[in-house]
Amino acid sequence: MLTPEDLQRYSRQIILPQVGQAGQERLKAARVLIVGVGGLGAPLALYLAAAGIGELILVDPDHVSLNNLHRQILYAIEDLRQPKVEIAARELSKRAPTKITTHTQALTEENAADLIQSADIVCDGTDNFTARYLVNDFAIKHGKPNVHAAIFQFQGQISVFGANQGPCYRCLFPNRPKNAPSCAEAGVFGVLPGVMALFQATEVIKLILNLGDPLIGRLLLYDALAAKTSEIKFRRNPNCPSCGPNRNESFLSKAYSDLQSCEMNPTVPELTPLELKQELESPNPPIVVDVREAHEREISTLPNTIHIPRGEIADRIQELDPNANLVIQCRSGGRSAQVAAYLLGQGFKQVRNLATGINGWAKTVDPTVPTY
Ligand SMILES: [Zn+2]
Repeated sequence: MLTPEDLQRYSRQIILPQVGQAGQERLKAARVLIVGVGGLGAPLALYLAAAGIGELILVDPDHVSLNNLHRQILYAIEDLRQPKVEIAARELSKRAPTKITTHTQALTEENAADLIQSADIVCDGTDNFTARYLVNDFAIKHGKPNVHAAIFQFQGQISVFGANQGPCYRCLFPNRPKNAPSCAEAGVFGVLPGVMALFQATEVIKLILNLGDPLIGRLLLYDALAAKTSEIKFRRNPNCPSCGPNRNESFLSKAYSDLQSCEMNPTVPELTPLELKQELESPNPPIVVDVREAHEREISTLPNTIHIPRGEIADRIQELDPNANLVIQCRSGGRSAQVAAYLLGQGFKQVRNLATGINGWAKTVDPTVPTY
């Protein structure tokens, strides 16, 4: 039941016909688990509490450090070396009547089932694959939607996994990466996790209120430097070790061995433009797939490419042979890396990314190709 104070506090939200008193009551009854109260989790918790979520369950073993403060806006200089979840609980309680439950241990195989079962919706605000797979697999097992976001340098991604029979993180990325840079090596553009966290908060509230089109089966990509979003559609993988009919617990738990990385997704093998040139002149050249938009191909193209724009790759995946030797190419190597990771996740055997893209080709192989 909403109190008279609630009715005033949330009045601007309640007058939205899509929310109303009934919707606000649903938000108040909701319990949301946030795994990781860092760059993503801190702004996410702030907005979910402000919007009237009844209970937030915060899980994070870390302490506040000085280099967190440029993005983890719940924390201040006097909070250094304090447990993040405790400071978060204190700061959130100043602002909203949300019940805050804190856990200062990391999410592990031992505690994941209890924590995830205690919530209606799970939010993945973690920064490493171990935790991402753990969140995904236990959310799937216990039938909880997993609102996932991840960032890498200037790029972010967001999706909703395991809701309404939709696909999961492992449908996209079944295997953990072999090598990936650490957070400290990769760097973080401070405002980016805030942007992605608010996408997450929006999806959480939409799920609770059953509003609009949730990001199920869609990976929304945000490129902060280009100020552009794009989308990869994906489906459930019938052989998915997590959400498929033959869930494979021993395969799943292999990914939980400690592996820290800041990258959003498993990394893909690469080759340089010069290496591609040599391979194209060999007896068994690879097939080059250009994932740029049609208007970009009017500026420059490599010879004999297959053209499938990134946004169409899931719908047109049957045009590609999963056993073929594929090189994915775009302007400078960013979009193509995402498509290559996606194809590897879908079971393609030999997929590599053309590092530096066609602009790199123009610089190092063929200066007659225009750059843009
Ligand atoms: Zn799956």
